[in-house]
Amino acid sequence: MRNVVIIGSGCAGNTAAVYAARANLKPLVVSGHEAGGQLSLTTLVENFPGFPEGINGPDLVENIKKQAESFGAEYVHGAVLDAELSARPFRLKIEGEWTETRTVIVASGASARWLGLPSEQRLIGHGVSSCATCDGFFYRGKRIMVIGGGDSAMEEANFLTRFGQEVLLIHRRDEFRASKIMLDRARGNSKIQFLPSTVVEELHDVSKNLVTGARLRNLKTGRVWDEPVDGFFVAIGHIPNTAVFKGQIQTDADGYIISQGGARTNIPGVFHAGDVQDRVYRQAITAAGAGCMAAIEAERYLEAEGH
Ligand code: NAP
Repeated sequence: MRNVVIIGSGCAGNTAAVYAARANLKPLVVSGHEAGGQLSLTTLVENFPGFPEGINGPDLVENIKKQAESFGAEYVHGAVLDAELSARPFRLKIEGEWTETRTVIVASGASARWLGLPSEQRLIGHGVSSCATCDGFFYRGKRIMVIGGGDSAMEEANFLTRFGQEVLLIHRRDEFRASKIMLDRARGNSKIQFLPSTVVEELHDVSKNLVTGARLRNLKTGRVWDEPVDGFFVAIGHIPNTAVFKGQIQTDADGYIISQGGARTNIPGVFHAGDVQDRVYRQAITAAGAGCMAAIEAERYLEAEGH
């Protein structure tokens, strides 16, 4: 029987593990299929406090893991495939095996939705990004492409004009899902060029391990051409990793956990941390803070139950 199982090993899960381990709760961390979370897909992180020269995303998340392990946190590879949260103790099926636990911290994150092109996947962290706040700074004076027609795409395109010489906004339709205010702001920004009814067919240049351009196709005219760009930002939404808890943990229509205040979910003893609940900030530092909150709440919950 575990005191606490932490699901996810990104900034939120690993920070929860540091706090839970220091509270002597010997947490078990289930790494998940995307171990290290979204930070493991980035390169230099310059906005995590405490690193004046910046730190590589994968190093940052690995350091927090080492810190947690030094206090006794235990990590297991794989993912939670099934969960029974209606009775106590809670039961989690980790890969093939069921584990019982008194508390659960869900820090399973939200995965960026990608276009799914093999070249895109190969160039993640080498010009392809899903986070303008994280990576925009690297494209000072460069040509940047943003994909999407929602609020995120408008927000990222606007934000990226602070750095880029020009931002090309590519959207598959000529109607936009984005709210009027966000769309108008982007349309009013002279550095943003809109290319509606356009899709990305391929990214260049995998052989150089660097984004140099994208092959585009206009769906109305059929024109296919190569557009040179240095940065490629995909802003077509995120998918919170909550499918396994469906019908048990309360979520909104998109699958994000609905917080009951602090780190509490609708199930006493089950807590949330990080992007699995946060559709607004989505930063490494806010996820780390949320992990800390969840661990403190789990500790108090266990204490109140006499463990
Ligand atoms: P979203 O509203 O779901 O928009 C996703 C966009 O990506 C849509 O335009 C969609 O095109 C496009 N898309 C999806 N799959 C695609 C694919 N395979 N290929 C090409 N394009 C694809 O997602 P979001 O913009 O991340 O916003 C999520 C939520 O957060 C929304 O409720 C939004 O209002 C909110 N948000 C608010 C703010 C703000 O107010 N400051 C900022 C960011 C996000 P189609 O339109 O053709 O489906």
